[in-house]
Amino acid sequence: MKTITSIQALREELNIYRKAGKTIGLVPTMGYLHSGHQSLMLKAKEQTDIVVISIFVNPLQFGPNEDFERYPRNLEKDQKIALEAGVDIIFAPSVEEMYPRVTKTTVQVVDVTSKLCGASRPGHFEGVATVVSKLFLIVQPDKAFFGQKDAQQVAVLQQMVNDLNFNVEIVPCPIIREADGLALSSRNVYLSQEEREQAAVLHASLQLAKQEIAKGTKNKEVIKTLITNKISEMPLAKIDYAEILSYPSLEEIEILQANEQIIIALAVWFGKTRLIDNLLIEI
Ligand code: AMP
Repeated sequence: MKTITSIQALREELNIYRKAGKTIGLVPTMGYLHSGHQSLMLKAKEQTDIVVISIFVNPLQFGPNEDFERYPRNLEKDQKIALEAGVDIIFAPSVEEMYPRVTKTTVQVVDVTSKLCGASRPGHFEGVATVVSKLFLIVQPDKAFFGQKDAQQVAVLQQMVNDLNFNVEIVPCPIIREADGLALSSRNVYLSQEEREQAAVLHASLQLAKQEIAKGTKNKEVIKTLITNKISEMPLAKIDYAEILSYPSLEEIEILQANEQIIIALAVWFGKTRLIDNLLIEI
């Protein structure tokens, strides 16, 4: 496994593989890797010949008062996890390498970015779409692997790939969870022990909603109230949003319709840590 920090060196390395007819899989990450990331690498290993992961804490996708500076980083540990998963190349550029001058070009996806995390974090998805576009142009992968943990991100990037004709297949991968249901996230290290215990309520409330829908409840507001009441049982939880929308179009719905895919999406603060989770349901 090689760790490469320069765009030029990565391009040269990948050209050799491409000329030899190898397919390339890309797993974009911000590092501080865990089993959720590892599941994406293993899926990439199954489906493509050469697996590249990027490790880059992208300043463009953080708001001015967000956690860019304190976001956890540990390249050495990440290298061990990636090696274990059979990764061929880690691309770990510096901020200067990715954004050498003041960037004057960004990629903006509208509509699907106006709800959920797009509403709570203005500019976030422009940062994501811009950095992923750059990674697609640098790596030119056949397939790119993303977690459904960030389901809105998958919807936004699929829209971008369709609209801009990127020659890459987006492969969505299931959410990996702790034993109590908490979705793995690099940000979980911020949680105090008490916050960590209470954070299991995100998954618990999604399960409650799932059971209610299975019983035949179709009214969105009824399901939303059930979720918000459940989360509010935890004294340290502050709801940013709890929404039920169509997926992947992220349109408003009032009554759940047959043959429709919906997303139940949550963002909840525990102290200074904002956690997200979601559930996709086919009605
Ligand atoms: P991040 O490093 O948080 O930007 O995440 C990099 C990729 O890993 C994204 O596609 C995430 O959706 C995915 N990911 C993060 N956590 C999980 C998880 N618990 N299960 C599955 N995929 C995940």
